[in-house]
Amino acid sequence: MNINQGGFTFIPFGLYTPEDISRSRKKLISPRVKCVFREDGEIERVDLANREVTVKTGRNYSCDYLVIATGCIADVGSVQGLSDDFNTFHTSLEDAFKLRKLVRTFDKEHIVISVAQMPIPCPGAPGKFAVMLDAYLSSLHFQPFQSREGKGIL
Ligand SMILES: Cc1cc2nc3c(=O)[nH]c(=O)nc-3n(C[C@H](O)[C@H](O)[C@H](O)COP(=O)(O)OP(=O)(O)OC[C@H]3O[C@@H](n4cnc5c(N)ncnc54)[C@H](O)[C@@H]3O)c2cc1C
Repeated sequence: MNINQGGFTFIPFGLYTPEDISRSRKKLISPRVKCVFREDGEIERVDLANREVTVKTGRNYSCDYLVIATGCIADVGSVQGLSDDFNTFHTSLEDAFKLRKLVRTFDKEHIVISVAQMPIPCPGAPGKFAVMLDAYLSSLHFQPFQSREGKGIL
């Protein structure tokens, strides 16, 4: 199953469900492409000289061209103190749902949206999230969040 990470941004506001953003990988990928999943698709070693990759099961796959697209993951521990109060929609469905709970019951004054270090998947997402958060909190409290005295999103 493929989960479209772009949908994470909308989960905290109840705009998408996990079903909305999940699709079978087999349906997304052309039948002309041979795909290998699970341990047989997990690359452990790349041998550029021999144009070969070794997967977790020990099997070798040879290739003419190698395109590496392993994505990026959040290294929360690399920023001191970040893990003490780390709430995010960026990393997983689970984290986006945790944030949803926090956003729904938020009754404090300031929210800081911080991008610790580039690269992140989708640099536009924090800005998009800030706009939706402002609209969401304003709708929950029936008045613009930013204009309420002493409150705001930074
Ligand atoms: C919150 C959020 C919002 C976003 N919003 C948008 C948007 O609005 N519009 C948009 O276009 N994009 C958006 N994106 C970005 C988009 O989802 C990403 O650009 C895209 O998922 C990145 O694709 P990728 O293939 O580079 O990496 P990924 O989707 O992370 O895929 C990498 C894959 O590599 C696999 N992998 C890693 N290591 C290995 C290994 N050793 N062997 C085999 N496989 C391995 C991983 O399991 C994973 O399946 C958003 C992303 C996030 C997180």
